[in-house]
Amino acid sequence: MISKDKIDFLNSINSDYSRFILNVVKAFEKREDAIEKQIKDNIYNISTKKLNTKMINLDEIWADPYLYTVMRISLDRLIELLEKASIEEMKSDPNGFCKKIIYNNYKPISDFPDSMINIVDFIKDLDVNDNLYFYAKEINEESIFKADQITKALILKTISSKEKRYSKLYDYVYDYLKQDFIGNNYCDFIDDKCIAQRHIRMYPWHLKNGCCYREFSKCKHFNKEFCAANCMACRLFSCPYLSKMNVTYYGREFLLFEVFLNKYQIKHMVYDFYKTKNEVIKAILKEEK
Ligand code: SF4
Ligand code: SF4
Repeated sequence: MISKDKIDFLNSINSDYSRFILNVVKAFEKREDAIEKQIKDNIYNISTKKLNTKMINLDEIWADPYLYTVMRISLDRLIELLEKASIEEMKSDPNGFCKKIIYNNYKPISDFPDSMINIVDFIKDLDVNDNLYFYAKEINEESIFKADQITKALILKTISSKEKRYSKLYDYVYDYLKQDFIGNNYCDFIDDKCIAQRHIRMYPWHLKNGCCYREFSKCKHFNKEFCAANCMACRLFSCPYLSKMNVTYYGREFLLFEVFLNKYQIKHMVYDFYKTKNEVIKAILKEEK
């Protein structure tokens, strides 16, 4: 938890950098609250005891690259640095301090431990008739994440129509991105100008959150306030300015993409800009082996 005097100080600076940090803090607290609620509700009925031999031991399943993404690790590092800093340090050079914790470039590598099962392989081996009973030593963010992804994957596996399956998969990922990227206001629009536009002159074509290049491409899907296409590539995209601040998504970090799509299909998700969901699904169906 970040102390009130630090939050108040960041609010008093009211610069693009301080607002970005405050947005990251809000996103972090929102996530912590959601996790706490999920642990309390235990919606996946994760047991802390093994009850019978059919149960799935979540502690044996490795899902690090999909939970601890580059963006997640870097923004958590920002929070850690903010927690550790003293208010005196912040006050002595506010702008320099904000930049130091935003551009922290912290990218540890997580190696796959031989003793565990990769979650992608685990899901691929799941049978549609399997009943899911989970257990773990602890009900925490990791066990909930694994249970959530395995449950979603099994739902997808039970959908026999490929078109409907891809459509549901698309919705799972798109809705997550909408909540994470747009919901956390990283683009920070003020008077119709995003954070990147305020800093880089060559970014004159953005209008609303998450709709880059609309003017540039004259995208026909822009509908008054927002995108009417639900375009995955546009939602996955973050500009170089935000990427440098560690707000960036990689197709390979989405577990459901890795499990259900081949590399050509993932390319459509990542690079088919200005396309509607239906157009992307059609392209993905054509790439079936
Ligand atoms: S992603 Fe697009 S809208 Fe958001 S800050 Fe970057 S250029 Fe602006
Ligand atoms: S498809 Fe992309 S560029 Fe077009 S309106 Fe949607 S988000 Fe904007």
